[in-house]
Amino acid sequence: MFLLSSASRHIGRGETSLRDPIKRICLKMSSTSDKSLRVLVDMDGVLADFEGGFLKKYRTRYPEEPYITLNDRRGFWVSTQYGQLRSDLCEKAISIWESKDFFMELDPLPGGVEAVKEMAKMDNTEVFICTSPIKHYKHCPYEKYAWIEKYFGHDFLEQVILTRDKTLITGDVLIDDKPDILGVEPKPTWEHVLFTACHNKHLSVSPSQRRLLSWYDDWRSILDSKRK
Ligand SMILES: [Mg+2]
Repeated sequence: MFLLSSASRHIGRGETSLRDPIKRICLKMSSTSDKSLRVLVDMDGVLADFEGGFLKKYRTRYPEEPYITLNDRRGFWVSTQYGQLRSDLCEKAISIWESKDFFMELDPLPGGVEAVKEMAKMDNTEVFICTSPIKHYKHCPYEKYAWIEKYFGHDFLEQVILTRDKTLITGDVLIDDKPDILGVEPKPTWEHVLFTACHNKHLSVSPSQRRLLSWYDDWRSILDSKRK
């Protein structure tokens, strides 16, 4: 009963309140969902400079320890490569991104925020930031939301998907720097476009997989190629 009357009040107000940005987003989604292109954009290593932020903080906290330059990074998991360098460095690496303010203080990667804002304004285009929080959840999920609010504004929080399994999310394109995106769904709906990063640039990917070399590469053509 309470829910019903509460909902009615909201609907009543909403009829004349298209200035409300959330309602505008809802209207856009409901009116265009049949033909819209849905783009999923990863966050770490695509919009936020995880690798650069990690190396800076690791070197500050452990100035005497060996480190891996971004040019020498290989493999998706930073902690795995540090563990290969010396076994105890795996835990030291993990301690960096489990610390307060790590995710909040990541710098944006060049051109990413501008590209996503441009995408979001395109006709028949829905864009979502699709990101996997670390399981040490004390700071990461909060800071991911705060980072997105800082660079995209409060309204864009409607476009955030936090999931550990991106195969469950439906979309036309997923722009992500992780070479293998696996989960419970064997045939995800999206095409994975590999975003080039220091850890994956040497990988030879299958001929069918497309890369986006940076946000200055032609992401508009990739989107256009997926429009029906
Ligand atoms: Mg990533």
